[in-house]
Amino acid sequence: MRKLVVFTFDYELFLGDRSGPLDGCLLEPTRRLLQLFGEFGFKAVFFVDTVYLMRLQELARQHPAAATDWMKIREQLKTMAGEGHYLFPHVHPHWLDAVYLPEENQWSLKDLRYYRFSALDTEQQRDLFSRSVVLIREVVGEEQIIDGYRAGGWSIQPFGDFRPLFLKYGITQEWSVIPGKYHFSDAQQYDFRTAPAGRPVYRFDEDPCLQAENGPFTEWTISTLALSRFEKWLDFKVNGFIHRFIRKRAFKGSTVSSTMEKEGDVLAAPGQIRGIASFEGLNAFTLIKYLGLIRRASYFQFISHPKLITDLEFNMVRRLFRALRKMGGVGTDHRQMPS
Ligand SMILES: [Zn+2]
Repeated sequence: MRKLVVFTFDYELFLGDRSGPLDGCLLEPTRRLLQLFGEFGFKAVFFVDTVYLMRLQELARQHPAAATDWMKIREQLKTMAGEGHYLFPHVHPHWLDAVYLPEENQWSLKDLRYYRFSALDTEQQRDLFSRSVVLIREVVGEEQIIDGYRAGGWSIQPFGDFRPLFLKYGITQEWSVIPGKYHFSDAQQYDFRTAPAGRPVYRFDEDPCLQAENGPFTEWTISTLALSRFEKWLDFKVNGFIHRFIRKRAFKGSTVSSTMEKEGDVLAAPGQIRGIASFEGLNAFTLIKYLGLIRRASYFQFISHPKLITDLEFNMVRRLFRALRKMGGVGTDHRQMPS
């Protein structure tokens, strides 16, 4: 294996006014992904929105629809693990005060109070984190090692909140950093401007953006794609409209509406915008760009959301997979990474 291409997913519903229906937003697109991954023999890493599942389990006692949903998810998670994919916790505390809408069997997540992990007190943090690990372990069984984590909304900072929990629960692999990017809103907050450039996988200790040679944790950074403003505009015009139209019709979920304070990217050259490497927005044009980057790199990580992938993008994913197979020497299992 000459290069590692990791495919990661946030396994979650929508986190705004409407969560969207479980089947259309999560189960069905994940089924399609699993089929595709199976066909090519590729591995995937799923970060499972555990607090949603905790709420669902609680509700299952009174609402049969919620009980059915929990059963379906459990089945799918078991299938994923059974097919050799990795399942790790992904905590969105935002679910703590989500309101269940029994008529629609959906949720409303308007309140941003608990969006970030850092908004919780130490006791709540400990409780949600430990229950998250236990929940995944119960579903996937003792034989799978649960050593990875991705923070909800990439908000892994301040890492001091997570560090003792990582150490206590054996989480050694961190997956939230997008080098160069920063974002501050009333929901999410992260600042990855100081992450080492040109070193996509590294060890760290107290700060996930600071390399520490013998640190107890490994950071697996999320890759980005540089586009000029013109390319971005063209992409928006050509693909954006169709995709938004399809998405609106297909799924009835809504994303978080937050108030942005500032966001940006220090790694992009002047006039460039750096997009997060993802199946969302994958088209003939970005596919060529991704393949060019992958050809030159030894490591690349995609982060995608099953809920957002359209039919067109599924077709592009198949093209991407074919191209990777043709390229040869591409591994997709991060545990097989030559160190
Ligand atoms: Zn998420």
